[in-house]
Amino acid sequence: MDRAPTRGRRLYDEDISSVLVTEEQVRTKIAEIAEQVAADYSEQCGERSGRETDLVLIGVLKGAVMFMTDFARALPVPVQLEFMAVSSYGSSTSSSGVVRILKDLDRDIAGRHVLIVEDIIDSGLTLNWLMNNLQARSPASLEVVTLLRKPDAIKVDVPVKYVGFDIPNEFVVGYGLDYAERYRDLPYIGTLSPTVYA
Ligand code: 5GP
Repeated sequence: MDRAPTRGRRLYDEDISSVLVTEEQVRTKIAEIAEQVAADYSEQCGERSGRETDLVLIGVLKGAVMFMTDFARALPVPVQLEFMAVSSYGSSTSSSGVVRILKDLDRDIAGRHVLIVEDIIDSGLTLNWLMNNLQARSPASLEVVTLLRKPDAIKVDVPVKYVGFDIPNEFVVGYGLDYAERYRDLPYIGTLSPTVYA
């Protein structure tokens, strides 16, 4: 009986109406972005960097968890991992830009090179708030990497240096992204069947 590793995925199969980004595409893209990031930060945060000069990755919980852990392992430069949890006031499928911190960073980022690791940029309101909040803490540099972006949904233009995939303006799940806390464990990005919302 070797069903255990795929059981959850099979159970989800009938809930997914289409696969937008496959597991392999995610893996390939992460390797590409990691190479680019490593090249960009090699001087400031190279292999011989120390505790104070390592690149700081800030993952936004919970959606960015899968991307953050795979991305950190793909990077050939030393990194330190930080997490923030924020809640955006709004409906279940759209944010308002009014954000509350549920979990703050464990460490000071003043003088540090910081890369925010996002799962998805939809309106950009949450990220815009986060950028302003983190910029006020005086990092040496502050950039953003996001796995997904919905160009047609953007309401505020936030400078995003590294983008994995531009996707249509549809609600997606998988690879960290949930619907009512489910589907985060899917290894790919997909859309849900209408029956799931019913
Ligand atoms: P924004 O402030 O850019 O509109 O929204 C950002 C947050 O909304 C994301 O970090 C994510 O948690 C959630 N979100 C936006 N679009 C989607 C989506 O298509 N699927 C899921 N599961 N969450 C989304």
